[in-house]
Amino acid sequence: MTKLSVVVPCFNEEAVIEAFDREVREVLGTLPVTYEICYVDDGSRDGTLPKLRRIAAEHGDRARYVSFSRNFGKEAAMLAGLREATGDAVVIMDADLQHPPELIGRMLELYQQGHDQIIARRTRDGDRPLRTALSRLYYRGVNRWVDVELTDGVGDFRLLSRPAVDALLSMPEYNRFSKGLFSWIGFDTVHFDYRNAQRGAGETKWRFGALLNYGMDGLISFNNRPLRVGIWMGAALTALAALYALWVIAMALAFGVSAPGYVTLVAISVGLGGVQLVMLGLIGEYIGRIYYETKRRPHFLVKEAHVPGAAGALTAARTAGEQRAGLGEPVRPVRP
Ligand code: UDP
Ligand code: MG
Repeated sequence: MTKLSVVVPCFNEEAVIEAFDREVREVLGTLPVTYEICYVDDGSRDGTLPKLRRIAAEHGDRARYVSFSRNFGKEAAMLAGLREATGDAVVIMDADLQHPPELIGRMLELYQQGHDQIIARRTRDGDRPLRTALSRLYYRGVNRWVDVELTDGVGDFRLLSRPAVDALLSMPEYNRFSKGLFSWIGFDTVHFDYRNAQRGAGETKWRFGALLNYGMDGLISFNNRPLRVGIWMGAALTALAALYALWVIAMALAFGVSAPGYVTLVAISVGLGGVQLVMLGLIGEYIGRIYYETKRRPHFLVKEAHVPGAAGALTAARTAGEQRAGLGEPVRPVRP
């Protein structure tokens, strides 16, 4: 029988986590699979962790959790969950019930038909119109720039086959932009749509600034084309400046020198300064990423883990691919 792992990143989800657990188990109970739910507590500061302990105590080997030493972000939490998962197929979903658990059945059917990535794409019903419009605009723009296809409404809610999970785990990069990574690994991928649901309880962790940063990650994580824009822009401006200089010299030769052109000069120097600052910022952004990659820090630190059966399964779950990639020493789970 297929073993299904459900990976759930949780950050301050005490209001909804128990309802989530109940609903997902209800759905999983009706499916022809054995299953486990892998919770990752991303350094929550509320009662999430005690609730996870209780869930784990209650469900034996059908529940496990890892708890981070602080908030490392959803990307790190998903990575930890994928490392923990032992199933033949893994479903990643949010803890806030925005990803309807009943869709797991549909995903499983498609998985059994031989697909490797089954993606649930949400419609944007109920989102604030401004956020929807900005997201649309962003995706339209960004897809011209990056090498991987990023699709609006496609989030992390998806089922991955074991080969797809291993492929993801074989990528050791520190700056993880999952939407891009999912797309980059390829494999046989299918989409289906679902209606966006409101949060079960609690509140979203995304502030507008965080979304902007996320957008920047998407643009920069997958290639260096933005740097090339700098080169072209610089070349075009230099050519323009040269033509302009020739024109000014010609005019001076023909009509003598006079004082006008002050405004033009200021405009040009300010404009060029702006372009240079933007490009410097861009270069800095890439260098910053190189800096983080070269440190080879772990993506997260675990302060507590409940791993049924073999202790240290967090280590065992590390794939051959990861070891090849030389991720350094794994973090040891500490029992409470
Ligand atoms: N999350 C996390 N770490 C974070 C932020 C969020 O693990 O630093 C989890 C959160 O608990 C939830 C999921 O990621 O399960 C999606 O977060 P949220 O619902 O706040 O995002 P939204 O649905 O508004 O995009
Ligand atoms: Mg949510």
